Amino acid sequence: MALLDGRTAVITGGAQGIGYAIAERFIAEGARVVLGDLDLEATEAAVARLGGTAVAHAVRADVTSAAEVQALVVSAVDTFGGLDIMVNNAGITRDATMRKMTEEQFDQVIDVHLKGCWNGTRLAANIMREAKGGAIINISSISGKVGLIGQTNYSAAKAGIVGLTKAAAKEVAHLGVRINAIQPGLIRSAMTEAMPQRIWDQKLAEIPMARAAEPSEVASVAAFLASDMSSYMTGCVLEVTGGRHI
Ligand code: NAP
Repeated sequence: MALLDGRTAVITGGAQGIGYAIAERFIAEGARVVLGDLDLEATEAAVARLGGTAVAHAVRADVTSAAEVQALVVSAVDTFGGLDIMVNNAGITRDATMRKMTEEQFDQVIDVHLKGCWNGTRLAANIMREAKGGAIINISSISGKVGLIGQTNYSAAKAGIVGLTKAAAKEVAHLGVRINAIQPGLIRSAMTEAMPQRIWDQKLAEIPMARAAEPSEVASVAAFLASDMSSYMTGCVLEVTGGRHI
C-alpha cells in the first residue's frame, strides 16, 4: 500500500515549482490532488501533465481571498469526496531593501504568504475537524528563520507562518488535525531562476552540502508530513536546506 492511498490533497500555488512537485509525489503515493493557482490555463495544463482529471483537478484560486480558498477546499470534497491534506504553498517575492521597498510590496507579500496561509489553514481545518483527521503543511522558508537582506516583507511573512503553524496546531491537535511547516532553502524553481547570478552564488556558498535542491526534495518531506509516518508530529518546522543556517 502506498503512503497516501485514497487521500485527497489541496495544494495552493500547485501549477508549477515546489507545489507541482508535491502534487507529483502525492499522486505517486496514491493520493488525488486539487491544484489551486492564479492562472487557470496553466493549472489545467499541470493537471494534464499529472495524469488528467482522474487524479487531479484544477481550480482558479487566489489565496488572499477567503471566499476563493473556501471554494477551493470545498471543491476537493465535491470532486474527490474529502479533504485529508492541505498544502499552503502559494508564494511570491517582491525583494527590495527597506529603503526602496514600497508599502504595496510589503502588503502584497504579507497578504499572499501570511494571510493566504491563514486562510488555507483555518478553512481546511474546518473540514478536517468534522472528519476527525487531517494534515496541514505550511511552506515557510529559511528566510523566516534567519532574516535575509532585501526580504523584510518575505522574512516577516515566513516567520509569521511558523507562529501561525504552532498556534493553529495547538488549537486543533485534540481533533486529530496535525499542522506542520517546512522551511526550504535554495530550491530550483521559477522563483529562484529570477535571482541574479551573484545572489545565487552567495547563497550557494552558504550551503554545507554545496548544492541547491530539486523541488522533489521538498516534496518528499511534504509526503512524510502528510502521511501517517509523522502521526505524532504537530507544530514542527522541518528545514530542507542542505545544512544552510543550521
Ligand atoms: P513558484 O515557482 O513561483 O510557484 C509559486 C506559485 O504560487 C506560482 O504558480 C504562482 O502563480 C502561485 N501564486 C502566487 N500568488 C498566488 C496567489 N495569490 N494565490 C494562488 N497562487 C499564487 O515558486 P516556488 O519556488 O515553487 O515556491 C513555492 C513556495 O515555496 C513559496 O511559498 C515560496 O515562498 C517557498 N519557498 C521557495 C524557495 C525556493 O528556493 N524556491 C525557498 C523557500 C521557500 P503565478 O506564477 O501565476 O504568480
